[in-house]
Amino acid sequence: AGTLYVVATPIGNTGDISLRALYLLNLADAIACEDTRNTAQLLSLYGLQKPLIAAHQHNEREVAQKIAERLQAGERIALVSDAGTPGVSDPGARIVDELRNQGLPVIALPGASAAITALSASGFTDDQFQFIGFLPSKAGQRTEVLQRCVNTSATQIFYEAPHRIHDTIAAMLEVFGPQRRIVLARELTKLFEESQRCTLAEAGAWLKADKHREKGEYVLLIEGLPPQQDNGMQEAQRILGILLESCS
Ligand code: SAM
Repeated sequence: AGTLYVVATPIGNTGDISLRALYLLNLADAIACEDTRNTAQLLSLYGLQKPLIAAHQHNEREVAQKIAERLQAGERIALVSDAGTPGVSDPGARIVDELRNQGLPVIALPGASAAITALSASGFTDDQFQFIGFLPSKAGQRTEVLQRCVNTSATQIFYEAPHRIHDTIAAMLEVFGPQRRIVLARELTKLFEESQRCTLAEAGAWLKADKHREKGEYVLLIEGLPPQQDNGMQEAQRILGILLESCS
C-alpha cells in the first residue's frame, strides 16, 4: 500500500516549510487539504501544483474512505491543513484515525505548530505542559475548563481567536489571579509578531495599549504554579509514601 504523509505547513512565514515537506508535497499523487484555495495558493509559492482533495471538518470520514482506496492502490497522499500541524486544533485526526484503523501506513512530517513555537520562546521552565487549544465560547464552560488548569505546575497552552481575546484574559485573571504570569504570543512568524510576558494583572492594559492587538491570532501560555505549590498531588504522594512504608 501507499502512505499518507501528514505534512505541517507554515503558520505565517512561508520560509518555515521544511525541505522534506517540499520534497514530499512534490512527490505526492494528491494532497488532501482543509481549504483547496488556500493550499493551491501556498503550493504556488513553492512552484508546485497538485491535484487537491477537499478534506474539511465535515467530510473527514468520507474522504478517509477515498484516501484509503487510493493508498490501497499504492498512491502517496499528503495531508495538510490551512496552517501549522494537521490534527492540532485543525482537521485531520479523523482521517488518520480511520486509516490507522484499517492498518494503512501514516507518517508525519514535523514542522510548525503555534503552540510549540510560543512555548519555546516563553521561558516558562517546568518540563511539563498541557495543551488545551480553544476554550469553549460560553462563559460558564470556559471558566470550568480554566478552573481545571489552576492547580498544576505545568504550563497551560491555549489558542484564541482575536475577537474573544479581551474576554478570555478577563476570565483568566479571575480564575488564576493577578500575579500569575502569562505569555501573549501574537502573529507568530509574521511581520507584526509580538510575544509579551507579564502578569495577568498587566495583560489587559497591554492589550489595550495598541488597537492592533485586538486583531491577529494568539497563543496564550499561563505559567504553572511553582512545583512546591503543585497543590495536593505532592502532599498526597508524600502521605502515600509514609503509608506504604508503614505497611511493609
Ligand atoms: N494547526 C495549527 C497549529 O499547529 O498550530 C493551529 C490551527 S488553529 C485553527 C488556529 C489557531 O492557532 C489560532 O486561532 C491561534 O490561536 C493559533 N495560531 C495559528 N497561527 C498562529 C500565529 N502565527 N501566531 C499566533 N497564533 C497562531
